[in-house]
Amino acid sequence: MLEIKPYKFYFCPCTQDLYGDEVLKHVAEHSKEIVGHLNEAEEIPYEVVLKPNLLTDDVIQATFAEANADPNCAGIITFAHTFSPSKSYIHGLRHLQKPLCQFATQYNEEIPYKEIDMDFMNENQAAHGEREFGHIFARMRLEHKVIFGYWKDKEVLNELGSWMRVAVGYNESQNIRVARFADTMRNVAVTDGDKVEAEQVFGWTVDAWPINEVVPFVDAVSPKETADLTDEYYDLYSIIDDGRDAKEFRRLVEVQAAQEIGIERFLEEHNYNAFSDHFDDLGGLKQLPSLSIQRLMAKGYGFGAEGDWKTPAMVRLMKIMTAGQKGAKGSAFMEDYTYNLVPGKEGILESHMAEVDPSVSEGKIALRATPLSMGNREDPVRLVFTAQTGPGIATSMIDLGDRFRLIVQDVECKKVGHQMPKLPTGTVFWAPKPNLKIGTEAWIYAGGAHHTAFSYDLSAQQMQDWADLMGIECAIIDENTTIRNFKNELRVNDVVYR
Ligand code: MN
Repeated sequence: MLEIKPYKFYFCPCTQDLYGDEVLKHVAEHSKEIVGHLNEAEEIPYEVVLKPNLLTDDVIQATFAEANADPNCAGIITFAHTFSPSKSYIHGLRHLQKPLCQFATQYNEEIPYKEIDMDFMNENQAAHGEREFGHIFARMRLEHKVIFGYWKDKEVLNELGSWMRVAVGYNESQNIRVARFADTMRNVAVTDGDKVEAEQVFGWTVDAWPINEVVPFVDAVSPKETADLTDEYYDLYSIIDDGRDAKEFRRLVEVQAAQEIGIERFLEEHNYNAFSDHFDDLGGLKQLPSLSIQRLMAKGYGFGAEGDWKTPAMVRLMKIMTAGQKGAKGSAFMEDYTYNLVPGKEGILESHMAEVDPSVSEGKIALRATPLSMGNREDPVRLVFTAQTGPGIATSMIDLGDRFRLIVQDVECKKVGHQMPKLPTGTVFWAPKPNLKIGTEAWIYAGGAHHTAFSYDLSAQQMQDWADLMGIECAIIDENTTIRNFKNELRVNDVVYR
């Protein structure tokens, strides 16, 4: 489900033809060495391909046009080894449709004090060339990412790798397709929005489907397929039966197994990679899809409940951006439920009534069937677990009527230190930055939703870079947030993004 194209990045040495062949040969050789190092580095998630020296307007236009036309090219990385006059880039940049990172690095780490002469200075003038190159972006008011530092430095490589994931997110955003079953929960504002605008700005397709279009897919799942998947659940998860009859418990689990297979078949047949549903309109489904959806999220589908179509798209985006990331801890749909206000132990308990993504779980996962306090269906079977600890980000994409705003908050996930034996859902407990009081006030001032797309593996910087590529506002709440400055930032953004 998380299949991603074999994305590549074009590495383009920026130079000019004033220096003679010897220098241009060195530029190409050094660039080849840098590209070789990038392709070996564990921090770099996608292949980097060396392109010819960008010497003239014609070469620049041809290279950028090739990038535009190459569906596997996710972005361009430039490196100004020498001076490279930036008027030459105007035509190419006007038409460039791929993200561009200005890798402001230098071939040599140290100035060779003993040998340095004017030839060396001309050949190695990144400090000079990168400024000229950057100027044209400022003048043309084009979005690009600048990463400064030595190309062997681990932190610099990490930064470049993180940006590459953002660039892939930009490209893959165009392929996000959300099936919205049963429209939305009545009267709810924050999870709704302008779907036409979302397609225009982000490339997301959001289609409405009656839930009863899915039901035949669920009903068509054979008893054998249902039994096999149920066996798999029983192998993978422990069981909290709450004294229920074992046969009846298994029958309830089988309902979810058939849903997992049936819903996935519907999504595959109609080419959707994200979806939402709504507990108040379940048509012919016997239970609120719970365990079934939890499993689909863990497979890589985006999801949001109650007809929320923006969160599924964001969850899918996060899963794409973190695909294959070493040591990744998970990205998931979450909902702010209830506070702990005890001094020193402040935080928010995150969960949902059923659909909590087990990607973020730690330790054992159990199957449990308990009554849902809403709706009129059978008790749904859910996966129950607690989550991993550590830093993460919570995000909310909202529609302000005339534009989108992405709100990103740094959070610290913690153990609650208590059992919650009566709670039949997966949970995460986090403390927002800079603290519960300011973090919550800022989130509310920004208009953020109770639904979030959460990730342990992405940074606020990456979401900001993605939002910049999309041309939308990004309001970050972090360690340095104060209410006065944050409110001012929102006021300024009202003018800037209008
Ligand atoms: Mn909800």
